Amino acid sequence: MSTRDTTIPVGRWRNLGIIAHVDAGKTTLTERLLYKTGTIHRTGEVHDGATTTDHMELERERGITIGAAAVRANWTPQGGQPHRLTLIDTPGHIDFAIEVERSLRVLDGAVVVFSGVAGVQPQSETVWHQARRHGVPLMAFVNKMDRPGADFDATLAQMREKLGANPWVVARPVIDGEHIVGLVDLVSERTWLFDEKGTPAITPWGEAERATHAAARAELVAAVAEYDDALAERWLADQPVDADALAAALRRGTLAGLGQPVLPGSAFRNVGIEPLLDAFVAYLPSPIDRPSVVAHTDNGDVQVAPDAGAPLAALVFKVVNQSHGPLAFVRVYAGRLHVGDAVWRSGSDRTQRVGRLAVVRAEDTEAVEAAEAGDIVAIAGWKDVATGETLADVHHPVRLETIQAQPAVLSWR
Ligand code: GDP
Repeated sequence: MSTRDTTIPVGRWRNLGIIAHVDAGKTTLTERLLYKTGTIHRTGEVHDGATTTDHMELERERGITIGAAAVRANWTPQGGQPHRLTLIDTPGHIDFAIEVERSLRVLDGAVVVFSGVAGVQPQSETVWHQARRHGVPLMAFVNKMDRPGADFDATLAQMREKLGANPWVVARPVIDGEHIVGLVDLVSERTWLFDEKGTPAITPWGEAERATHAAARAELVAAVAEYDDALAERWLADQPVDADALAAALRRGTLAGLGQPVLPGSAFRNVGIEPLLDAFVAYLPSPIDRPSVVAHTDNGDVQVAPDAGAPLAALVFKVVNQSHGPLAFVRVYAGRLHVGDAVWRSGSDRTQRVGRLAVVRAEDTEAVEAAEAGDIVAIAGWKDVATGETLADVHHPVRLETIQAQPAVLSWR
């Protein structure tokens, strides 16, 4: 049984959704994110015939992760601490309205993928507003910037017009001829250039770049300072705004829903994947940054805080049927879920023992002993488990599925 995640504290977990209109590149981006995070474990391995190997690895990962509701990966930003990412599959289509609502409940933040060619399309418009209603902090990735006709600024304008968004441009594209080849990182004052294989070279700005990008960076600082007193003070006092101060203000603003960091890229060409992973860590919340959720009991509503020491409250948000039985994906909001524990199930109003817990990764499925507040984990072996069920402490039965989500069903109670 692996313990590779146990040293990463909950403050460095990111449960995030990837949301997109069909064809914007969600599948491609997810694969590339998993591939880039996977290579962290593979450093030191020798690859001969890199192209073939890369291709085969991508194919293998596609096979394993298909159908998984949540995939876990680790990411360490340059010079930073290791973080644990859980990518949650979020249906972008309104036909799955209840599934969309449910997946928005279990994630802590989301990145909305737009096509730089098609811009803001109707499905992402709908889900954007749903996510905002749920108070989910958002970021955006403007994909397909390698395609002729891709227009970063036009997509930003559409985000403002169609979504009422407040896009904070944290990186601008470097275009070579028609293709995007890199990103100008306006926060950390570095330029990322990607080679044919998508391997980045990162260069801190010299004096010339500082001068070239001064206006774009000043625009970002001014836009964030409008909402952030600490940054505004520095800005007004004419003090330099360093990367840490700007990133901290961006994080505060994003968590409060005041703006949305935006980056350009091309999933297809592996351009912008590492900066996006860094941005997840920098700007999106951990489970303990999120407010309490409401749970219902026979004696009225209670607040469930993200506290591992509190009684268990967890929600089954997706059941995936596999050849060896159903896998129930669960978000733990409070308390601990431990193999062998008996838990109360709202679906059947009875207790049941947790036989097996698993975490799905790009490479494999890993058995784990326990999960705690903030975790996303799969329960294997429960035949009759249903989405929307709450699992709770036997002495504190609560229901997490909200009246808000299904008013008609609960109104007769
Ligand atoms: P999804 O429907 O959002 O999951 O989109 P897919 O990931 O399946 O991508 C839809 C199509 O767009 C596929 O043909 C991809 O190869 C292509 N695609 C995805 N990302 C990019 C990109 O960055 N640039 C280009 N040119 N094509 C892309």
